[in-house]
Amino acid sequence: MAYATTVPRHKTREVGIDDHVVGGDNPIWVQSMTTTNTHEVGPTLEQIRRLEEAGCEIIRVTVPKAEDVEGCRLLRDQIRIPLVADIHYDYRMALACLEARTPSGRRAVDKIRINPGNIGGVERFKEVVRKARDAGVPMRIGVNSGSLEEDLIEKYGYPCPEAMVESALRHIEIAESLGYDQIIVSLKASHVPTAVACYTLFAEKCDYPTHVGITEAGSKEYGTIKSAAGIGAILLRGIGDTIRVSLLGDPVPEVAAGFDILRACDRRVTRPEVVACPTCGRLDIDLERIVAEVEQRMKGLKQPLRISILGCLVNGFGEAKEADLGIAAGSGKGIIFKRGVPIRHVRESEMVEALWEEVQRFDQETQPLASFVEKQKQKAQKSNLTVIG
Ligand code: SF4
Repeated sequence: MAYATTVPRHKTREVGIDDHVVGGDNPIWVQSMTTTNTHEVGPTLEQIRRLEEAGCEIIRVTVPKAEDVEGCRLLRDQIRIPLVADIHYDYRMALACLEARTPSGRRAVDKIRINPGNIGGVERFKEVVRKARDAGVPMRIGVNSGSLEEDLIEKYGYPCPEAMVESALRHIEIAESLGYDQIIVSLKASHVPTAVACYTLFAEKCDYPTHVGITEAGSKEYGTIKSAAGIGAILLRGIGDTIRVSLLGDPVPEVAAGFDILRACDRRVTRPEVVACPTCGRLDIDLERIVAEVEQRMKGLKQPLRISILGCLVNGFGEAKEADLGIAAGSGKGIIFKRGVPIRHVRESEMVEALWEEVQRFDQETQPLASFVEKQKQKAQKSNLTVIG
C-alpha cells in the first residue's frame, strides 16, 4: 500500500491583502518584519528594499506612535509588497492607519495586525473592526501566549492552546457580528509543542486562514531550527497560509529560511533542492566543493528540481534514482542519473559542468510538464484527494 506523504492543505476561505490572496489554494506567502523605527523612513525603506530583494512577499512594521502612522503613509508608495501595521496597546493607531492615505492617494496600509490581549477591551476592538470593515482592509487577529486576556488565564490557569483558540474564536465572533470577515489568525507561542497544538486545534474549529510563526524564536541559528520544527510541523498538518521565521537581528535571513522551510515540507517549492550526503570515511572526492559549486550555479533557477549528490555508490544509486538528477560519485569519477536512469559517466573535474548541462536540458524538457503536474496537484487538493509523492 502506498503511504500518503502529503497531507492535503486545510481548506480555508480566502482573504486579500492588496494583490496577495491568502488562504484557499493560493501560495503560502513568506513574510518578515522590519526592526527599525517606522517613522525613520529612510532606514525602514532601506530594510524593506533589502527584504524585497531577498523575496519577502508581505512586510509588517510596528506602529506604536502617531509618527509611525506617518511613516507608513510615506513608505507605502515606495515599496512593492503589501504593508502591514502591527498594533499593540493603542487602538487609536489602528484607526489612524486605517484612515491614512499616501501622497498618491492609496491606502497607507494593506492590513492591520491586532493583538486582542492588549488592545484595551472589546469596545475598542469593535471600533477597529468597524473601521477596517468600512475601509475594506483585512485584519490579523494575532493571539500571543504572552499577552492573553486575563479572564482566559483565570479560566484555564495558563495560556494553553484551548485558551488561545478561545481568544481567537471569541474575537472572530465579535467581528462577524459586525459584518466583518476579512480575518487572518495567528496563535503564536515560543514553546513549539504549544504552537503546534494551537494551530491544530484552531484548524479543527475554523476555516479562517492562518499566519504561522514561532514567536521569539531566538538567535539566527537556534531560531531557524526552532522555527523549522514548529512551522514545519504545522505545515505538514496542512495548516498555514502565510509564514514568518522570527530571528534576532537583521530580518533578511528570515526570508530564505521561510522559503527553505516551505521547500523542505514540500508545500511551496520555488527553486531547486540539492540533496547531499554528509560524507564519511568512504568518500574519495571533494564533495563539499562540488556541492558548493552546484548550489552556486543553481542560484536564481526557479525550477522545483531535486538534485542529489552522493559521495559513493553505497546510497548513491538509490538516492540518485529518487531525484530528478543525481550524481553517484567515487574514486575521482561518477555517474549522472536522470530520474533513476544512468545517462553519463564523468570525471570529478567535469562533474559540475556536466550536471549543469543536464540541469539546463532537464529544465527545457520539463517546464510544460511541471506546470501540468502543479495543476493536477492543485486539482487533487481542491477535491481533498491525497497526493502521493
Ligand atoms: S553516500 Fe557514501 S560517502 Fe556519502 S555518507 Fe554515505 S557511505 Fe559515506
